[in-house]
Amino acid sequence: MRRSELFVSTRKQAPADEESKNAQLLIRAGYIHKEMAGVYSYLPLGMKVAENIKQIVREEMNAIGGEEMILSTLQHPHIWQATDRWDDAKVDVWFKAALGKDSQVGFGWSHEEPMARLMTQFISSYKDLPVYTYQFQTKLRRELRAKSGLLRGREFIMKDLYSFSRDRAEHDKFYEQISESYMRIYQRLGIGDITYKTFASGGPFSKFSHEFQTLSPVGEDTIYFHEGEGVAINKEVLSDEVLADLGIARDGLVEKTAVEVGNIFTFGSRYSEPLGLFYTDEKGIQQPVFMGSYGIGISRLMGLLAEHFADDNGLIWPRNVAPYQVYLARLSSQPEVTKAADQLYDQLENDGISVLYDDSDLRPGEKFADADLLGLPLRVVASEKSLTAGGFELKLRTNTETSMLPKDKLIDSIKQFTSEP
Ligand code: ATP
Ligand code: MG
Repeated sequence: MRRSELFVSTRKQAPADEESKNAQLLIRAGYIHKEMAGVYSYLPLGMKVAENIKQIVREEMNAIGGEEMILSTLQHPHIWQATDRWDDAKVDVWFKAALGKDSQVGFGWSHEEPMARLMTQFISSYKDLPVYTYQFQTKLRRELRAKSGLLRGREFIMKDLYSFSRDRAEHDKFYEQISESYMRIYQRLGIGDITYKTFASGGPFSKFSHEFQTLSPVGEDTIYFHEGEGVAINKEVLSDEVLADLGIARDGLVEKTAVEVGNIFTFGSRYSEPLGLFYTDEKGIQQPVFMGSYGIGISRLMGLLAEHFADDNGLIWPRNVAPYQVYLARLSSQPEVTKAADQLYDQLENDGISVLYDDSDLRPGEKFADADLLGLPLRVVASEKSLTAGGFELKLRTNTETSMLPKDKLIDSIKQFTSEP
């Protein structure tokens, strides 16, 4: 992509009313646009980051048998009344709108009910199970507090997967599988070492649910981590009884602040029964389908990565989510420099390396500042000076050292860098 063809520009200041660091950085760098508190639009670069995160999640969900689909956003009150989750007194995040004189629709904030109801069309026998469906969807929620940028939106992208199993044993097996795939996702996003699978509140069908909590000073959650046992517990469920249950001594617990980047939940027949989702087992007996649901906050992850991987000069994207791998800055419009930079750009693109080519007439200082703000992993400079020295200057975003490399060596180095796992 040539910078001259990108309509977005960077800006010196974030909107005055934006308090969160992640949104300030993302807005200044031109990744997102603030519509109102808790509501952001994704600009071309921001959309690429979100898509890269989604693709990692998609690959891991497909690997465990997930089938991707998209449910509707508009929701009929009827099916939510069946599970007693339509009333505002029961669920306080609904956005609702009038449809006709006496009718309403809701805007989907989660999708257990419509997914279970839909499955009544397709599941009737034990032969139809298990089924694992998932989607990436914009959820709408009337969140009271929305001051943390992408970490808590009123409109945000979520991955939600729903499992439909014959019984608890089949469910438990999948629950373990998806739990492992969640950890792989966080590893691939570069936050594996600061993300803990955490015991959280359960329901009628399980003592606990699990949250995936990433350590961050801006987190809203408090968790307790036991280093020796490698066990994390959400403060909400911490009690002597729970500790005894898990065989953990209170002594070794360390309090930490974290962001919930995902959660997994056992629902059993909580939704299947009221919505009429049953199957006939091998003996011909009707059984409720055993359900679970599994969320990951895509927008929240993007905000967290922006918050966590940054310095005073801007963003520092992990390689797997960066919108482009290379920021190629051409520092002069002199014909030789232009020709060399154009050729390098073409060659890198032909080799499958994504490049944001700054072919603009901005001053060198501005280009360097933008390279830092945008946070692409590698910066390459083409200038009269670099050509005289026989090539191009290469710098990692995470590093201050630069190296001068001839074209072939430069391309080799870039390829090596981008192919590391
Ligand atoms: P929280 O306790 O943070 O409100 P939640 O328990 O409401 O989260 P779920 O409804 O299970 O979360 O949603 C699944 C995932 O979606 C969460 O783990 C989180 O990563 C993300 N998420 C939830 N609410 C928001 C929001 N308002 N903005 C961005 N991401 C969110
Ligand atoms: Mg919530």
